[in-house]
Amino acid sequence: MDPIESTFRDIVEISPFPVYVCTGDDMIISVANNATLKAWDRDSSVIGKPFFEALPELEDQPFLGYLQSVYRTGKPFYSNNERVDLLIGGKLQTFYYKFTYQPMYNGDGKVYGVAAFNTDVTELERAKQAVEESEMILYNMVRQAPVGICIIRAEDLMIEVVNDSYLKLVGKKRKEMENRTIWDAIPEAAAAYAPVMNNVIHSGVSFSASEHEVILIRDGKPETVFIDFVYEPVRHFDGTINTIMVIGIEVTDKVIARRSIEDAEERGRLAIEAAEIGTFDLDLTTDKMVTSARFNAIFGFDGEVSRKKLANVIHVDDRQHRMLAHEMALKSGNLFYEARVIHPDDSIRWIRAQAKLYHDNNNTPVRMLGTILDITEFKRLQQQKDDFISVASHELKTPMTSLKASIQILDKLIKTNNNPEKVSAFIDKANTSLAKMQHLVESLLNVSKITAGQLALNKTHFKIDEMVNDSCDHLRLAGDHELILSGDTGLEVFADRSKIEQIIVNLVNNAVKYAPQSKKIIVDITKRNKSAKIAVQDFGDGISQDKIPHLFERYYRVDSTGLQYSGLGLGLYISAEIVERHGGKIGVISEAGIGSTFWFTIPIQE
Ligand code: ADP
Repeated sequence: MDPIESTFRDIVEISPFPVYVCTGDDMIISVANNATLKAWDRDSSVIGKPFFEALPELEDQPFLGYLQSVYRTGKPFYSNNERVDLLIGGKLQTFYYKFTYQPMYNGDGKVYGVAAFNTDVTELERAKQAVEESEMILYNMVRQAPVGICIIRAEDLMIEVVNDSYLKLVGKKRKEMENRTIWDAIPEAAAAYAPVMNNVIHSGVSFSASEHEVILIRDGKPETVFIDFVYEPVRHFDGTINTIMVIGIEVTDKVIARRSIEDAEERGRLAIEAAEIGTFDLDLTTDKMVTSARFNAIFGFDGEVSRKKLANVIHVDDRQHRMLAHEMALKSGNLFYEARVIHPDDSIRWIRAQAKLYHDNNNTPVRMLGTILDITEFKRLQQQKDDFISVASHELKTPMTSLKASIQILDKLIKTNNNPEKVSAFIDKANTSLAKMQHLVESLLNVSKITAGQLALNKTHFKIDEMVNDSCDHLRLAGDHELILSGDTGLEVFADRSKIEQIIVNLVNNAVKYAPQSKKIIVDITKRNKSAKIAVQDFGDGISQDKIPHLFERYYRVDSTGLQYSGLGLGLYISAEIVERHGGKIGVISEAGIGSTFWFTIPIQE
């Protein structure tokens, strides 16, 4: 063997790549380097044997065919990553090879054999398959994920993968999203979210949002939804961001449910606050009570106190009543009572307690949850109303009795047919009684109109002094009082003349009634910016300061017994309502022993 050939043989022998040569029609293995034997898991005894005999497991595999075809045609054969199953340690195992089969020519230019050069690429192939497999798994995961996933190419924002959940989330069809850019597909979200996504691409920092309110066009209709989502940048192995993964899940139901709970809680809290309700939670097994700040305040305490202390501030006359209510509650399951409590300053307040009992499994009452209301004002109004009814009946009864008497006398006079002067005197008397009744009934009608919000105004321009003179003629005629008009007497206003007249009559009549010793009554008119101020001043007893805030209330009378003066306590209330309807103000300045000045304002112009 010449030295060069022997060198080549050595090179082939030590090559880490399997190299072998098959010769002749039978494809006898004439050369097979160590790497080949190792790959085949055979020993050198295969050398000199036909290919099919050395590697019987390849019978159904194409390799012998490739070799023979190269041998026959003289054309080399290449293959990339071809699978080969070899019997290794008695077990058929799969490998992947990249190989070249080269024809070998003899001196005559005839093919005498085929040289095979092989590279084992099993590991590479396995790695590739693993990648493909994991990609497939990932893809399937994405497709089947219960959350919306959309994978977007960073460079042009084209949608690469979008799953069904995402389509459902954004309310689009697959064909509306595939082969489009994300903002082509969901233009309604572009304004708000394109800048966010660009920022993720440029900064590489993911963005996550929870409960974002988004308007999406779902199936053609705009819908407000709440979404939790993430824009996750996915890096290429070289560190560049090539895709953005959007993961989104709709949380609208959750948000709405939570909000409605929050709303309900808030409404409940506001209602309790607005109604100034005090609340308590009583543990019936220990008698321990948890009470709200309002509850403590209603009982006249700064903080929480024992149940015993609470019971002690109940008015003695109401204690029995409270105890009975508690006894009843154990039977009925509901507590209800009204009682008076005495505050540290000795003032008396009315309270209303309402509660519900809760039982354990043995039906033993264990807990009481309830509310406390301060109903002092309510009681006062109730009392006032009761008083009013008796006053009103009394007020109506007086002119009615006198009317009845006048009619009876008239009846007699007519039957006896004498004394026409007397007849006309009693007719006058009857008329006066009727006018009084009419006035009372009108006052009552006015009140119900005010309560129903039906006090209509019929505004015109008129001069105040003319109106005052017209309405106070009766006073001048009677001659007991001196009515003085002062100030801007010629001032013209824009108001409901008959209603303003009603106020003047009320104020002047009150001055006459409650300041009988005051001979002078001054009606003063002043022009203010855009309004006229009309004041009626008397020089009577005046009104004590503590009564003043209530004067304009319905049914309020300083002397509620009605012993000294008659009246319904409606005149000032009606006056205040009329003034308010005109957008004006009403008030009084009064000093005991000096007199009172009732005033009000009305607009000058429309
Ligand atoms: P009424 O005169 O029917 O009682 P008003 O509403 O007109 O009803 O008046 C309410 C209360 O205000 C009266 O009961 C009276 O006690 C007090 N009052 C009104 N005007 C005067 C006044 N000029 N001087 C003293 N007290 C007055």
